[in-house]
Amino acid sequence: MTGRLTIVGLGPGAADMVTPEVSQALAQATDVVGYGPYVSRVAPRPGLRLHPSDNRVELDRAQAAIRMAQQGQRVVVVSSGDPGVFAMASAVFEALETMPGAADVAIDVLPGITAMLAAAAALGAPLGHDFCCINLSDNLKPWSLIERRLTLAAEADLAMAFYNPRSASRPEGFARVLEILMQACGPDRLISFARAVSTPEQVLNTVPLGQATPDMADMRTIVILGSSTTRRVGRWVYTPRFAG
Ligand code: SAH
Repeated sequence: MTGRLTIVGLGPGAADMVTPEVSQALAQATDVVGYGPYVSRVAPRPGLRLHPSDNRVELDRAQAAIRMAQQGQRVVVVSSGDPGVFAMASAVFEALETMPGAADVAIDVLPGITAMLAAAAALGAPLGHDFCCINLSDNLKPWSLIERRLTLAAEADLAMAFYNPRSASRPEGFARVLEILMQACGPDRLISFARAVSTPEQVLNTVPLGQATPDMADMRTIVILGSSTTRRVGRWVYTPRFAG
């Protein structure tokens, strides 16, 4: 059997949001590699080996997956959401760079529905105009870079989606983020907290920035800050298609 490495996104949580091509890759896999909670979203079956790991060992995990594919296994590397959004696809390519001779491994990247898009749909259309997304974890970048990007994005009047709002290594970081945004955007700017989107535990909460508190977010929450034109209509939050 020819080995193959398929890097997939499992979507935000709902089984219906796993794409058919991802389901097919999982059905053909011999091995599934990834962070434990994501691997546990894959149904066990005879002949399928599951390799759950800790979330701090992305590069080791990626190297192990490449080695298995070189040995002829059909390996699927799983991420939540989309694998290219703060997830395993980049880790696999980083690993590939360090492994001479591995560049000819057959690799496919299959997209998934990223948390930001599932949350935006549940809220209405807060990302309906220009936006950016920022990972608030400072595991892989200095905190000063996060602050600089927040300030510049606010200046550009972009809506913003924030992944990993409560970094385990810096629990006070999100309080600082809210302070910076208050300063730059004022207390009336809408901010939405979308937790466990598409799962039975989903909670959506939209408030003016002046009422936002750090405890409204945890690691299962994606935070969406509106631009200056983002508004409410009924229970919905949306950003009009025109600006300026
Ligand atoms: N690759 C993933 C993101 C991984 S970073 C994706 O594309 O969605 C992990 C962060 O994603 C979490 O801290 C949270 O901010 C966000 N997230 C992932 N799933 C989520 C969900 N179902 N609801 C809300 N936020 C989610």
